[in-house]
Amino acid sequence: MSFLGVIGKDLVMATLTIVVPCYNEEEVLPELFQRINAAAPAWEKDFGISWQVLCIDDGSRDKTWELLQTQSQKDSHWQALRLSRNFGHQPAVTAGLAHAKGDAVLVIDADLQDPPEIFGEFIKKWREGFQVVYAVRTKRKENWFRKLCYWGYYRLLAKLADFKMPLDSGDFALIDRKVVDAMNALPEHGRYLRGLRAWVGFKQIGVIYERPARAAGYTKYNLRRSFNLALNGIFSFSKLPLRVVTSLGFWTSIIAFLGIIFTLLQRIFAEEFAFWGLSPTPGYATIVLSVLFMGGVQLICLGVIGEYVGRVYDEVKGRPAFIVAEETSKPSLGFSTDSAR
Ligand code: UDP
Ligand code: MG
Repeated sequence: MSFLGVIGKDLVMATLTIVVPCYNEEEVLPELFQRINAAAPAWEKDFGISWQVLCIDDGSRDKTWELLQTQSQKDSHWQALRLSRNFGHQPAVTAGLAHAKGDAVLVIDADLQDPPEIFGEFIKKWREGFQVVYAVRTKRKENWFRKLCYWGYYRLLAKLADFKMPLDSGDFALIDRKVVDAMNALPEHGRYLRGLRAWVGFKQIGVIYERPARAAGYTKYNLRRSFNLALNGIFSFSKLPLRVVTSLGFWTSIIAFLGIIFTLLQRIFAEEFAFWGLSPTPGYATIVLSVLFMGGVQLICLGVIGEYVGRVYDEVKGRPAFIVAEETSKPSLGFSTDSAR
């Protein structure tokens, strides 16, 4: 029985595009090919789905592109795009969303941390009428420091955003065509996709899963990249840091103003103040400390404002998030990757 149902009396097959960003993933790709090919017959049988994988080679320097090309020649389910350089994970997924043609798009990582064996659950929820089925990570196989950071970050972001941002959910999600089109139509270039996915709305649901460790190879997200992604999330979806800066400035000004009045009164009513034990003391250290403190506060404020100004600058330049260098051969199955949507 097909998902899209009956048009006239003809059954129409629903199509699924699996988008996989790949950056130097030669070690894990053979296992990815094998695991997805092994899991796919169940989706065809249970849900009448025809599927295609669209891998985005994000400027890899190893054999990733050769492996993807060979796979696409062997098996028309597998197609790939190569970006002109390494643009980063979010731009690579953005490229995938822009070129995917399926009625639904499933975004996964190449390293099998998003196991193909559970995709059926996502397709089932989609069939039930949910337009975004996103994965929620319960346990992570990472060190305690990273786990703590992720835990705190997702909660902070959910508090800051003025719409419902799911907790502990990454980019692993099945997204209906309507939602993909809505996301593609958003003009911003600095894209924090899991935030945009929540922002566009529609009928969304989480599927809980335990995130396994990477099947092979090493993580491409070092601490600096993870930190950048986290900052992008906060600065793209909240103006609260600006408000905090404003109120910080306001309160430090009030404290400074009270300090000035106090010092003046201390001079004018020196005797009375001496009686209360508040006569002026040589305050070199106090002055230096307060000057340093104020300087620090001002620099932090400038930095926060700079984060926004920098983002405005990037948006104004209007450069595309990615550039495609080449594509593998034209796919079958009624899918097409030759023209961007
Ligand atoms: N990735 C990418 N471009 C990059 C960095 C990563 O396309 O510049 C891909 C990578 O190949 C993988 C996914 O993004 O498929 C997630 O990366 P990784 O598994 O290294 O991150 P982690 O799971 O450790 O956070
Ligand atoms: Mg990974």
